[in-house]
Amino acid sequence: MSPRKKISVDLVIPVFNEAGLIAQMHARVRRAVDGLPYAFTFIYVNDGSSDGTETELTALANADKRVRVISLSRNFGHQAALTAGLDASRGDAVVTLDADGQHPPEMIPQMLDLIVQGYDIVQGQRAADARLGRFKKWTSGLFYRLLNFISGTRVLPGAADFRALSRRAVDALKAMPEYHRFLRGMVSWIGFKSAILPYHQEERAGGVTKYSFAKMFRLAMDAIFSFSLAPLYVGLSLGGILLLLALAEMIYVLSFWVTGRTSNLAPGWSSLMFVILIVGGMLMILLGFIGVYVGYIFQEVKRRPVYIVKREEKADK
Ligand code: UDP
Ligand code: MG
Repeated sequence: MSPRKKISVDLVIPVFNEAGLIAQMHARVRRAVDGLPYAFTFIYVNDGSSDGTETELTALANADKRVRVISLSRNFGHQAALTAGLDASRGDAVVTLDADGQHPPEMIPQMLDLIVQGYDIVQGQRAADARLGRFKKWTSGLFYRLLNFISGTRVLPGAADFRALSRRAVDALKAMPEYHRFLRGMVSWIGFKSAILPYHQEERAGGVTKYSFAKMFRLAMDAIFSFSLAPLYVGLSLGGILLLLALAEMIYVLSFWVTGRTSNLAPGWSSLMFVILIVGGMLMILLGFIGVYVGYIFQEVKRRPVYIVKREEKADK
């Protein structure tokens, strides 16, 4: 990056039904970045909010000429909203952060320092002391362990969608057109020089989480099925084990024939049922795995856009 030209930085902030928090969030981000030697643009992505968010964002755009607002045509989800923001960005660097104040904007200067030093990715990592619910802590830990166990792409435990990216890292992400997006995995997949920056997560500035259990589950599915083929191999290994068991059983039965004790072979209804249920269950699960992959392939080949923009304010900025 040329030291003479002021480096331009886009702040991408996805917003879904955060009315009441926006002015306060914007003021806090401004306090954190004003005075820094970069040219900032704020890109708020309104992810199909149904409350007063859109009006509040329009007011913000009217009051601050550095604010751009992109409104999606419906709620496409956090990852799609982030993608819309990255696609719209033109800055030399981009920082993505949540609108609820859980990603401290006070860390942006430090993140940008590292980008200027030559890092392409500065990944925010939620420090272990975060006041998360027991359930979220437990599911999150389990999720990262499982994902890293079955996927070739390493994803940092506690990684958040709070990160700074260089222009070439953003361009690399933009070259990944996949419909099922798990940005934490994609960022790790593109490579480049990256730094990890732990942050302390505060409580939400207000309102409630917009990540319902269904949305969290979908994100986990997207992560697992788009970054790993391991579930398909589960079938292969289980099939192998079952074949070995069948072989052992054959030898066992044959031993009765060889020693002439065929009358001792008990008619085992319960063991038979057990085997049928186990095998049936496994087949169903594996068929399910294959079904999910086929579904994902189906959605990818349709080549639908990840999001649709309804309205954009100050697109020319
Ligand atoms: N968000 C979004 N679309 C959604 C869900 C969430 O744009 O469908 C935004 C939300 O407004 C917030 C960020 O994504 O700025 C993270 O969501 P949230 O804070 O609800 O998730 P949590 O921190 O509870 O995991
Ligand atoms: Mg949050």
